[in-house]
Amino acid sequence: DPLRRVAIVGSGNWGSTIAKIVGTNILKFNTFENEIRMYVYEEMVNGRKLTEIINQEHENVKYLPGHKFPPNVVAYSDVVDAVKDADILLFILPHQFVERTCLAIKSHVKKTAFAVSFSKGFYVSKDKRVELLSTVISRLLEVPCYVLMGANIASEVAAGTFCEATVGSRNYEHGQLIKGLIQTDEFRLVIKPDTEVIEVLGALKNIVAVAAGFSDGLGYGDNTKAAVIRLGLKEMVKFCEEFFPGHHPQIFLESCGVADLVTTCYGGRNRKVAAAFVKTGKDIRTLEEEMLNGQKLQGPDAAAEVQEWLKQKGQTNKFPLFVAVHEICERRLDPKALIDALRYHPEFC
Ligand code: NAD
Ligand code: 13P
Repeated sequence: DPLRRVAIVGSGNWGSTIAKIVGTNILKFNTFENEIRMYVYEEMVNGRKLTEIINQEHENVKYLPGHKFPPNVVAYSDVVDAVKDADILLFILPHQFVERTCLAIKSHVKKTAFAVSFSKGFYVSKDKRVELLSTVISRLLEVPCYVLMGANIASEVAAGTFCEATVGSRNYEHGQLIKGLIQTDEFRLVIKPDTEVIEVLGALKNIVAVAAGFSDGLGYGDNTKAAVIRLGLKEMVKFCEEFFPGHHPQIFLESCGVADLVTTCYGGRNRKVAAAFVKTGKDIRTLEEEMLNGQKLQGPDAAAEVQEWLKQKGQTNKFPLFVAVHEICERRLDPKALIDALRYHPEFC
């Protein structure tokens, strides 16, 4: 049998981290081609192409500086070339780019391949249909798509400090393969069957992290932030119960649930930019450009996507924190109104 291949679609902060890990792990398998093709959205960095820098210096100097890739991770600027022979596609793009990237590779992906989505957010079509990103990947590429979500600030994972994540898969063989390719002694994976909820939690916690950032920016203390986290978690659970029933209730205690929520509300980019939004009065897009050096926020767009979802279901009144985050990002509400959303939360009625 020919050796199987892994491709990585995306090479930002998290994509580069996963490439580093899988590039090392794959050498342990004798059933996989060592070379891993990584799709890099081409750009010039200090007068050179980023793909050239990665292939010569084995470092993504823009999105994961200070960490070397093993030399078997090879950067490709052409996404079709990166994926066409792959048996496993790891999708690690900011969620805003998932659909367009799938459209570019549609009909070039092997029929027997499968995908894993690491992206946190939802997809809203032009005619306002809201979908899970794993559904978009599966629908456009006609392959199964699993997910990996967890408390994983990329720079910490790349540095090798201990953490864990949750893999969502109902296919035993594929779940084990994903685990074998990604797990290390410092990055432990638990496989759970509640794929949809695992993905939804990853998207929703970024909205709560924006609220945590507003609270920090307003100068409120740890009690307020704990209330934001708790009420945010309540809304996350309610959203899953309302729209994705049938999951195991313990799923919220996995890394994809409470742990990712906590790390993002303390250490994430969404939190950082949301705090600056309150302090500087600048808009979110400007701050994203000024503060993140090309990295992308997921929370504000996820808030807009969830707003659309809730509007269609007539359920905005049950999720005041999610709604307030969107209204504040859009400047239709003052950041202080976040506290009203908490004060008059259905929890207290
Ligand atoms: P990132 O925020 O570093 O995003 C920048 C990437 O987007 C770069 O590779 C850039 O080249 C690329 N890009 C810009 N324009 C593009 C376009 N038009 N088409 C395709 N690509 C384009 O990305 P990331 O941190 O790797 O995040 C990817 C996903 O992983 C997100 O959904 C995020 O929520 C999730 N995630 C991130 C982390 C983290 O700590 N960074 C941790 C867990 C999950
Ligand atoms: P931020 O996008 O807010 O940095 O969160 C990263 C993350 O998803 C950690 O698991």
